[in-house]
Amino acid sequence: MSPGAETRTADAVVIGAGIAGASAAFALARDGLRVVLLERESQPAYHTTGRSAALFIKSYGNALIRRLTVASEPFYDEPPAGFSEVPLLTPRGFMFIARRDQCERLEEELALARRFVPAARFLDAQEARAMVPLLRPDYLAAAMLDPEARDLDVGAIMGGYLRGLRAGGGALFCDAEVLDLRREGGVWRVESRAGRFEAPLVIDAAGPWADEIAGLAGLAPLGLVPKRRTAFLVDPPPGTEIGSWPLVADVEERFYIKPDAGRILCSPADETPSPPCDAAPEELDIAIAVDRIQRAFDLPIRHVRHRWAGLRTFAPDNTPVLGFDPRTDGFFWLAGQGGYGIQTAPAMAGLAAALLAGGSADEMRELYAALDPARLLSGR
Ligand SMILES: Cc1cc2nc3c(=O)[nH]c(=O)nc-3n(C[C@H](O)[C@H](O)[C@H](O)COP(=O)(O)OP(=O)(O)OC[C@H]3O[C@@H](n4cnc5c(N)ncnc54)[C@H](O)[C@@H]3O)c2cc1C
Repeated sequence: MSPGAETRTADAVVIGAGIAGASAAFALARDGLRVVLLERESQPAYHTTGRSAALFIKSYGNALIRRLTVASEPFYDEPPAGFSEVPLLTPRGFMFIARRDQCERLEEELALARRFVPAARFLDAQEARAMVPLLRPDYLAAAMLDPEARDLDVGAIMGGYLRGLRAGGGALFCDAEVLDLRREGGVWRVESRAGRFEAPLVIDAAGPWADEIAGLAGLAPLGLVPKRRTAFLVDPPPGTEIGSWPLVADVEERFYIKPDAGRILCSPADETPSPPCDAAPEELDIAIAVDRIQRAFDLPIRHVRHRWAGLRTFAPDNTPVLGFDPRTDGFFWLAGQGGYGIQTAPAMAGLAAALLAGGSADEMRELYAALDPARLLSGR
């Protein structure tokens, strides 16, 4: 079929096949909706979703993020039958480290972590170094450990969501950039590079481009800001066993490292505002990371094996955006997942599906209000 030759109809058009769009499309298809998922690139998860550090940490992010992460755990622990043949979560651990001048901050973080992970505990320098021997004794004063943090298998998760979407009668179209959105006669007419689609409901899950998609629909932006984060891989020192290390992060989140398939993933934990784009790492950010990491670890970095960057997209209050746009009909936001989009995806998709099905239990009202796009419109 040539693009534009036929209009396909659906109950919902989801824009963007990262984790947000894939998880929402899956949840809606399971509820019996006819769902079309449109992705601009030639493959799903090309942007932020394919560039993450793949961690599931219940003691990370603001209180609402932590709540969404906790609520996502049962799905990842026991996904629906046929979702994945491999475990989606595997043990890793998460260690915050502190210099002497950061110990007060470490105590605050530990108190906060314990609200969601009672097993989180203080480690003295010796205990921390027993776990990660490359930590420099002249740097490290103390640490805390969240033993429940785990690695996520993002490939298996995306595979499960997309298989489930197809099993529910839905379809993914790649090379399907959405070019125009128009509301006519009670439906959205969606013009894309893969042809024309029509549905009463559009879900904006376009990650860094979410505000641009709203613009196509004639809506002013919510003020979402994509922020670049850099990562790269280096070799461990010869003979160093790293497989059992937790992710180790500076308590003020100025760098982190984690084992990654025999290498060490490093990041300066940068958050540089960027226009939506195919993000690429900058030399300076890598140099900053190398400097900070070498102060904390006895880790000579001579060669960077592989480098990349991705855009973590934040609303001004660092809380995701989920819900109908009050300025028009049938336009639903699922954006602003920041640095937590994989670990919160099952809960976010479940909340979206429940709201779209017309139900939202009373006890969830406060949660929906915190996520509501309308909160970002007052004063705009
Ligand atoms: C270095 C790094 C480390 C991270 N670590 C973690 C972590 O450990 N744990 C965690 O949970 N999260 C982590 N994150 C954050 C996580 O990756 C994001 O929150 C999540 O991937 C966001 O998913 P998304 O679907 O919203 O966006 P994306 O994955 O960017 O998907 C949006 C999609 O929309 C598509 N699109 C845009 N415009 C159009 C259009 N006009 N038409 C059609 N399609 C369009 C894009 O091509 C893209 O594929 C990390 C991120 C980075 C960069």
